[in-house]
Amino acid sequence: MIRPYKRNLLTPGPTPVPEQVLLAQAKSTIHHRTGEFRAILKEVSEDLKYVFQTKNDVLILASSGTGAMEAAVANIAQDGVRFIPVVGGKFGERWLDLCRVFKTDFDLLEIESGRAPEIKDIEQKLKTSEKHSVVLTTLCETSTGVVYDIEGICKMAKKYDAFVVVDAISGLVADKIKMDDWGVDVLVSGSQKGLMLPPGLAFISLSDRASKLIESASMPKYYFDLTKAKKTAAKSDTPWTPAVNMIVALKSALEMIKEEGIENIWARHASLAEITRQAVKSLGLKLFAQNPSNAVTSVSMPKEMDSDKMVKFIREEFGISIAGGQSELKGKIFRIAHLGYINIFDILAGIAAIEFALHSFGYKFNLGSGILKLEQEFLKSYKKGE
Ligand SMILES: *Cc1c(COP(=O)(O)O)cnc(C)c1O
Repeated sequence: MIRPYKRNLLTPGPTPVPEQVLLAQAKSTIHHRTGEFRAILKEVSEDLKYVFQTKNDVLILASSGTGAMEAAVANIAQDGVRFIPVVGGKFGERWLDLCRVFKTDFDLLEIESGRAPEIKDIEQKLKTSEKHSVVLTTLCETSTGVVYDIEGICKMAKKYDAFVVVDAISGLVADKIKMDDWGVDVLVSGSQKGLMLPPGLAFISLSDRASKLIESASMPKYYFDLTKAKKTAAKSDTPWTPAVNMIVALKSALEMIKEEGIENIWARHASLAEITRQAVKSLGLKLFAQNPSNAVTSVSMPKEMDSDKMVKFIREEFGISIAGGQSELKGKIFRIAHLGYINIFDILAGIAAIEFALHSFGYKFNLGSGILKLEQEFLKSYKKGE
């Protein structure tokens, strides 16, 4: 009855890619040093500013999201700067790894898994630093499903003239972020999450003061030299061969985003996330994140059960991908993403698959209670035509 599989990605990257975006990407490759391509690049650059909520250029790198994280650290590191990596999971750890690899001066802030950082704890680090502080933080810590208060962090950082660098690779479009209004200095994202594209592009935008800061950076770099990328971006160009077909696909995805409107997209993610959380709780399961993100819902697995087994079961039996836990959370949590090209029916399928799995593993609950809750919650806010 369930074969042939219809695959569905309810993972926090990669996420499903709309058909029109796939078709755009499948078009014949055009040459990048042409007016035709520059016009496309110009248009996507404008649209990316809208998504980032910034007036500054959003640079497009041909790498996965981590490339933009590396670019941020490599382009900022210099004498007189101390990084404050905020580590509350796997992706905060990536900031820490980058600090170590580039042998920069840093002062680690570690936070408990499943929690967001306390602003006062970051403030303590800034207060005691004799150097210029650069906070390396995350909008949605995908490994734990926690959203951080970036607006609050920026507000506090301003008092100390500190810079704030935000990894919004999974958070962008799901959790609200307003780069310029909030005073984010560097914002990083990637293609295979909320932007509804395959993996392969990274994005980075710098505030005016961050652009000034990178001019005095001392770390060796070449491909990821952002001063080069900024110079060419001003002429709707790129320093190296861009990922042409991906950028054509990006244009299509951004058209969808503009049509729906960023405020509506934030609202859609917020409702789907809330509905998912309610459904999960009605199964008798506990949410793992204290401040849950609207990109992904992380759920504690009942003690006697292994979440990895459930994730594998759902993927192999039903063609639906959800995510397990990483590192010390392996086997202990599972994560359902409601990120990007997702609507209520994708979540229904996901919750049904989770119910089937729990049922077959002998977990005691009322079969259908998750689905029922999901439908009830959906109907509360459903209006015809929206
Ligand atoms: C997915 C993700 C990354 C890593 O991006 P890659 O595209 O795999 O390099 C980094 N940070 C966060 C928060 C993520 O969700």
